[in-house]
Amino acid sequence: MIAAADFIITKAERSKLSSMSLENISFGKYFTDHMLEVEYADGEWKTVEIKPYQSFSIAPSCAALHYGQAIFEGVKAYKNQDGDAFIFRPEENFKRFNISARRMEMPEVPEEIFIEGMKQLVKLDEGWIPNKPDHALYIRPFMFGCDEMIGVKPCDTYKFMIILSPTGPYYSAPMRLYVEEKYVRAVEGGVGYAKTAGNYGSAMFPTAEAKRKGYDQVLWTDAIEHKYVQECGTMNVFFIIGNKAITPGLEEGTILAGITRDCTIQLLNELGLEVEERRLSIDEVEDAYTKGTLREVFGTGTAATISMIRELCHKDFIMRLDTDSWTIAPKIKNRMDDIKAGVAVDKYGWMLKV
Ligand SMILES: *Cc1c(COP(=O)(O)O)cnc(C)c1O
Repeated sequence: MIAAADFIITKAERSKLSSMSLENISFGKYFTDHMLEVEYADGEWKTVEIKPYQSFSIAPSCAALHYGQAIFEGVKAYKNQDGDAFIFRPEENFKRFNISARRMEMPEVPEEIFIEGMKQLVKLDEGWIPNKPDHALYIRPFMFGCDEMIGVKPCDTYKFMIILSPTGPYYSAPMRLYVEEKYVRAVEGGVGYAKTAGNYGSAMFPTAEAKRKGYDQVLWTDAIEHKYVQECGTMNVFFIIGNKAITPGLEEGTILAGITRDCTIQLLNELGLEVEERRLSIDEVEDAYTKGTLREVFGTGTAATISMIRELCHKDFIMRLDTDSWTIAPKIKNRMDDIKAGVAVDKYGWMLKV
C-alpha cells in the first residue's frame, strides 16, 4: 500500500491559472500546473512524483515510439454546486486501464498509484476544475514503454503519468456519420477493447476520408461482413428503435467498453426502456428507418457524454433524423449532468469525492 506520504510532491512556484479563463476552453489544449509521473523498472513501480507540468526528453530509440506499447484513459472531474470536487467513476477507468495493460503485455498499475495518485493530483489542481455546465477537468492517465532499444519485444521499463486539462463543451453539434465498409477498426482477437494508441492512429486515415466526404466521423462495422455496427470515433453508439434501446455487445471484444455506455444503460433502464446489448446490423437500422421506428441515434463517451447523430450514410442510402424532436438522448444527458453537478442524488455511487 502506497500512502500519501510516499508521494514526492513538488509544487509549482506560480500557477498559470491567473493568466487564463476556463470559459469555453477548447478540448485538450491547456494543461494544469502539475502532473504525476512514476517509473517502472526492475519489476517494480518506483516512487510517485507529483511535480510541475513540464516537458521531458526521451531517447530516439524509445520503444513506444516505434512499436506502440502505449495505453491511456480518459476520466473527468467536476465541481458540484457547493464547489466540492468529484471524479466520475475512476475505479472503472482503473480496471479498464489494466485490461489494456495486459493486452499490450505491459505491467499493471496498482490502485494506490492510479486512484490515490489521481485524487492527490486533482486535489492539488482543484482550482482548474471549471464550475460551469458542460465544463470539466479532463484527466488523462497514460503509460508507455521506455526501453532505449530497437528490438521488437515487451519493454522492461515504463512510465505511468497523469496530466490534467480543463475543457469546455466538446462535440456539441449533432453529428453526421459515414458507415465504413472498407477500412476496419477492430476484429475478434484484436485490440479493439483496449485503449491503446495504435487504435487511434489507424483510425485517422479512414476518419479523414469520411471528413473529406463531408461527414464528422465514421461508424465502424465488423471486419468480416461490414454489416454489424461497432462504434464511432471515441464513442459507443445507441439506437432507439421502437421502445427498445439497442447497443452493440461487448463479448466479441471489438468495441471499447465505455463507462458512459454503462451509465447510459442504467439510465435507459431507469426511463423504462428495454436495453439490448447485441449484434445490430446496418440492415436492421435501415429497416427501422424505412418503417419510421428508428427514433434516436446517439454516441456516448467521456469527452462528449452524449452526442446526437443526425445523419447516417450507408452506401447511397442516407438516413436523416430530426434531433429537435428527440426526448431520450436529452433526458439521459440531463440526468447525467444533474448527477455530476450534484443536483440529483448520486444513487449509483458514481462520484468519488476528491
Ligand atoms: C474511450 C472510448 C470510448 C468511450 O468510453 P468512455 O469510458 O465512455 O469514455 C468509446 N470508444 C472508444 C474507441 C474509446 O476510445
